[in-house]
Amino acid sequence: MDFETTFIAQVITAIGFAVGLSIAVASGRYPRHIRNSLRAYAYGKFILGCGFLIAGLRGDASPEQLIPLANGLGVAGLAMNYTSVRHLQNRPVWPLMPAAVGLAVMLACLLLLLAGGSVASIRILVSFATSAVLLVIAYEVLVRYVGRGIPHYVTGVLCASLAVVYLVRMGAGLAQEAPPANEMMDDHVERLTFLLTLLGTVVGAINYVLMASDEFNRELSKLAHTDGLTGCLNRRRLFEMGEVEFRRARRHGRDLTVLSLDIDRFKSINDHAGHPFGDRVIQAVSDCCTGQIRREDTLGRIGGEEFAILLPETGPEAGRLLAERLRNAIERQLAPLGIEGGVTVTCSIGGVSLTREHSEFSDLMAQSDCALYEAKHAGRNQVRFFIPVALSAVAHG
Ligand code: GH3
Ligand code: MG
Ligand code: MG
Repeated sequence: MDFETTFIAQVITAIGFAVGLSIAVASGRYPRHIRNSLRAYAYGKFILGCGFLIAGLRGDASPEQLIPLANGLGVAGLAMNYTSVRHLQNRPVWPLMPAAVGLAVMLACLLLLLAGGSVASIRILVSFATSAVLLVIAYEVLVRYVGRGIPHYVTGVLCASLAVVYLVRMGAGLAQEAPPANEMMDDHVERLTFLLTLLGTVVGAINYVLMASDEFNRELSKLAHTDGLTGCLNRRRLFEMGEVEFRRARRHGRDLTVLSLDIDRFKSINDHAGHPFGDRVIQAVSDCCTGQIRREDTLGRIGGEEFAILLPETGPEAGRLLAERLRNAIERQLAPLGIEGGVTVTCSIGGVSLTREHSEFSDLMAQSDCALYEAKHAGRNQVRFFIPVALSAVAHG
């Protein structure tokens, strides 16, 4: 296979436009940050396509002035891949970065030409800029991306490999004799670079789509696991996590404590201050709990104004201390909100710690509910722990 450089440039143009169009059309159906990423990628492909379109026209008249434009567009289009990867992770993006990079390359090429530089010197400059952008993308995908999978590794390795290809092209530019400025470079290095760029465009697009789909799946599973009002886990996920923690604690003989927390007289808070205010109270209680527990603890909203907390590696003593601290923190921290709504916000907490008698996670949940019921009966704004019958008999007898 030995295609002419112009022909390969035209194929890259066609592929860039086709990929850009397909991704732009499909982008509307996705959540905001994925949509932004898809659009940045699509626009990047259009711009890259334009760059190669101009490069592919180079056989025609007055091509020299087109060199800076073609190269500036090519590098800007590539830089948009970086923007799209940043969007995908919901990281901050400077939207003008690709334009700034492209413009800088274009101006540098223009200055080189005006100063009487050869096409070879432009080749060196643009190869360097291209490999730098590729390496930045590779770093972002291979090192900084949280939750990397196979498509991320393929994309990263692909970008790094193409960066090497462009460095080789740069080296070739340093070693070669300068051809006339109005002829498109068409040596073996150039053909190979363009062919590998073509391959990279296709493989890169496939893997980018896989990365975006990965992110979409992550978003869906987050939605399926999260409570919409508070952002903590929903009932189903809390129970799933509870089963996991229960089995782990049983297998390794570790401590596990479960707390059930219920906001006191919440119905009257709703009645007195309105449902939206009630929602704010639920959110504030959730935030307060999140602030009090450790990273390895798990908070879930399991009903209207009811929460459950899983405390791995926590025995009854530490569990009681934490429950009391939590009850106290809610009473204190939510006092200003209570005053705003003309209500008092407190909560009751029931707890239980794992013993050998427990055979299922649901036993723990049932017993912490029992303890919560006791706390309510004892006057609310209290902590109660479930005491197994055998122990309570010893305590009373
Ligand atoms: P107790 O001290 O015994 O727990 O009394 P309570 O009034 O808190 O208990 P109850 O379970 O009778 O009332 C819970 C109320 O929570 C009833 C329901 O209208 C309200 N609720 C459930 N989900 C939501 C919600 O998402 N937002 C708001 N604002 N209220 C909710
Ligand atoms: Mg309640
Ligand atoms: Mg309740």
